[in-house]
Amino acid sequence: MGAIDTPDSTFDVIVVGAGPAGSSAARAAAAAGARVCVLERSSMPRYKTCGGGLVGLSTDHVGIDLAGLVRATVSSLTMTWDGRYTVSRGRTDARPWLSMVMRTDLDAALLAAAQTAGAIVRTGVQVLGLLEPGGDPADQPAGVGVPGVPGAHDGWVTVRVRGGADLRARVVIGADGASGRCGTHVGVRCDQVDVGLEGEFVVDAALAERWAGRLLLDWGPVPGSYGWLFPKGRVLTVGVIGDRAQGAALRGYYERFVERLGLTAAPRQHDSGHLTRVRAVDSPLRRGRVLVAGDAAGLLDPWTREGISFALRSGRLAGEAAAGAVGAPGAAGSVGSAALDAYPDRVEAVLGPEMAAGREVLGAFTRRPGVMHALMSGPGTFGLFIRLIEGRTTVARQLRRPGVRAAVAALGR
Ligand SMILES: Cc1cc2nc3c(=O)[nH]c(=O)nc-3n(C[C@H](O)[C@H](O)[C@H](O)COP(=O)(O)OP(=O)(O)OC[C@H]3O[C@@H](n4cnc5c(N)ncnc54)[C@H](O)[C@@H]3O)c2cc1C
Repeated sequence: MGAIDTPDSTFDVIVVGAGPAGSSAARAAAAAGARVCVLERSSMPRYKTCGGGLVGLSTDHVGIDLAGLVRATVSSLTMTWDGRYTVSRGRTDARPWLSMVMRTDLDAALLAAAQTAGAIVRTGVQVLGLLEPGGDPADQPAGVGVPGVPGAHDGWVTVRVRGGADLRARVVIGADGASGRCGTHVGVRCDQVDVGLEGEFVVDAALAERWAGRLLLDWGPVPGSYGWLFPKGRVLTVGVIGDRAQGAALRGYYERFVERLGLTAAPRQHDSGHLTRVRAVDSPLRRGRVLVAGDAAGLLDPWTREGISFALRSGRLAGEAAAGAVGAPGAAGSVGSAALDAYPDRVEAVLGPEMAAGREVLGAFTRRPGVMHALMSGPGTFGLFIRLIEGRTTVARQLRRPGVRAAVAALGR
């Protein structure tokens, strides 16, 4: 199949994947005037294995009205360590500090916002590979200079799709998640691979009431793992996450966790597993005219594995960079490289410190879960924990305090 040059096949920006990263990217690029097409392999709305917990940084950056999407909010917390040492705390004013959504609803709404901004959406389209100017999927140079236009590159990125004609774009944003093709194309390297196991359990009114407004976090028996119960009315989202290499032990942890909660026999709307991958510190975020964002780039918190806020923020940065590149002067198919060059630095500036801090805390948590449990559930630190979830402070900011930094470093040794 060859690339064809029609308005239906040629775009300024093609975004691969319609999760939070892809929709944010598409929305930002379209709002800035680029002609954008989103390619999503599933039909939407689609299910995504995810707790659907929106921390403050996610609600700050989501950019859409969440009223009608939020299934429940949380104002109290129970923490356990492998089912023991139970501590429950709530805020005296009972003000909610965490919002719960179903990803099916959130992702559909984010995609609709991208469409409203002008993005074209094609669902049921699976991307198989990318070819940059003068290359094939195994060997893509960055492009050739355009005579007379400093910093511009000629040519197009070809996007190969299953069962259809090739498409082409001046810039491609890979937002196709943890197991997508675009990360491989760009050469993303990850040094932490986790697996999450999660179910959506339908419960009776009494059990729903017992958990209403209350989040459960359980520090798991597999080093670095934890489990959660997110209440969403008559549905409880229950899951565990930890090192993929400990898959069998994690499966056992998940089953015991579900049993402890009295949910083994409860009907499950979904029960599935999904990988998360955390990028190595110097892993690329761009190759030629292809940028990666969200899970495709390995951008998420290494400790909590919270990824929606990372997907929203990196997606938007990628969309802005792509629009800046295609808006630069040049011949048809050319892009201005300055905006693309700046993307990795912008991501590093915003998300790099948060990921570095998450790594440090994960190190402490992996080695000393009991001490971390005592610290996080203590009356003095509960307020800090809540402020972290609300996004009113960050782990990175806290680690700049010498006492905190020394304590976390000591725990991680
Ligand atoms: C069990 C579990 C629980 C989690 N809970 C939370 C939580 O409570 N809060 C939180 O903030 N984060 C959570 N996360 C992390 C969060 O789910 C991810 O970080 C987030 O979904 C990343 O968004 P994304 O847009 O980068 O990727 P995704 O949401 O994975 O979207 C990628 C999209 O690309 C599409 N796609 C893939 N391949 C192709 C292809 N070849 N062609 C076309 N389309 C393609 C997929 O169908 C998908 O729609 C959790 C993760 C797991 C595994």
